[in-house]
Amino acid sequence: MISMADISTILSRYDENDIKIATVCSHSALQIFHGARMEGFATIGISTARNRPYYESFPIAKPDIFIEIDDYKDILNKDIQEKLMKENAIIIPHGSFVEYIGADNILEYLLVPMFGNRLTLLWEGDRRRQRRWFDEAGIPTPKVYDSPFEVDRRVIVKLHGAKGGSRYFTASNRYDLESKLQKLGYREGYVIEEYIAGVRYYPHFFLSPLGRPNIPGIGYGSLELLGIDRRLEVIDEVYRGWPDVIEDYLDFTVTGNQPVVLREKLLIDLLEIAVRLVSTSRKLFHPGLVGPFCIETIYNPKRGFIVFEVSARIVAGTNLYTSGSPYSVFYYNEPMSTGRRIAREIKKAIKEDKLETIIY
Ligand code: ATP
Repeated sequence: MISMADISTILSRYDENDIKIATVCSHSALQIFHGARMEGFATIGISTARNRPYYESFPIAKPDIFIEIDDYKDILNKDIQEKLMKENAIIIPHGSFVEYIGADNILEYLLVPMFGNRLTLLWEGDRRRQRRWFDEAGIPTPKVYDSPFEVDRRVIVKLHGAKGGSRYFTASNRYDLESKLQKLGYREGYVIEEYIAGVRYYPHFFLSPLGRPNIPGIGYGSLELLGIDRRLEVIDEVYRGWPDVIEDYLDFTVTGNQPVVLREKLLIDLLEIAVRLVSTSRKLFHPGLVGPFCIETIYNPKRGFIVFEVSARIVAGTNLYTSGSPYSVFYYNEPMSTGRRIAREIKKAIKEDKLETIIY
């Protein structure tokens, strides 16, 4: 695995007056490039030939430099990595970046300095580790069943490798589950989780290790809530088939995002959960969460917020708020997207000579 010391050495050779922000042209790249430009950074878009002209069509968000690749895994090739390092590139990892290249490949082979703590990839990509993190943080999570025989209520079944909720299904009890698993021919490679009834909220946070403590329990650094979204999944439209239940609607595939705000008194609960996750992350994988992260929650009025996942990087839901959100205005008197916030953190770190605290 590439160590923090390896990355520090590479970073020490960088020209801090010519740092460029790089990412793969997908997911939240326009927001990242746009935000970087607003903070005065040059940008590099890693793109396929097909995508390039479309990214070029956005005059204010297009990257300054393109690096064309045939396959996203080519980023790991020596010549591409060297090109990026020669340009003093800092990579901003987003969902597609991690998915296309693979968390293991990033940990083993990516020498280019990356914003945030790459150890989070180990913890967010593995459901068991993630569960340990939540348990140690004392955060309410859905019950997980080791075997279908233990199931005593409605459950949701998540297949390993099923991205963005695709191919998830629910079962109303143990017998329903057994018959569905048998029908689908699934023997292993899935997680059986308690189905939580409630309203979903996906708050987007930013943890700045360089900021002044602004919230109880944070220890060091500051925590900002930059926005909240709700993912639009096919099942959200199930009522359109009523009075019949149309099979095709029983699908959790994420297809988009919608802005939401939360009843203000509930914000406190969310902030408390975020602080606990940050503190525990620092114990489990030092320096813990750094930069953007999203807590995936379901609010059930009897049980409060139940956390079913954390994405420890910029999430696509932040694309709703490229010019700020109903929450970012409480921290900044200027449009502040998550992409811009990342660039601002890098700028501050350069100024204070602390880049190695936010890059790994
Ligand atoms: P990935 O794991 O690839 O990041 P994702 O984060 O989009 O995918 P999940 O968060 O695992 O997918 O879940 C997708 C959807 O399934 C959720 O947005 C939610 O609607 C539903 N869901 C997940 N877990 C539960 C649960 N325990 N109870 C009720 N609904 C759930």
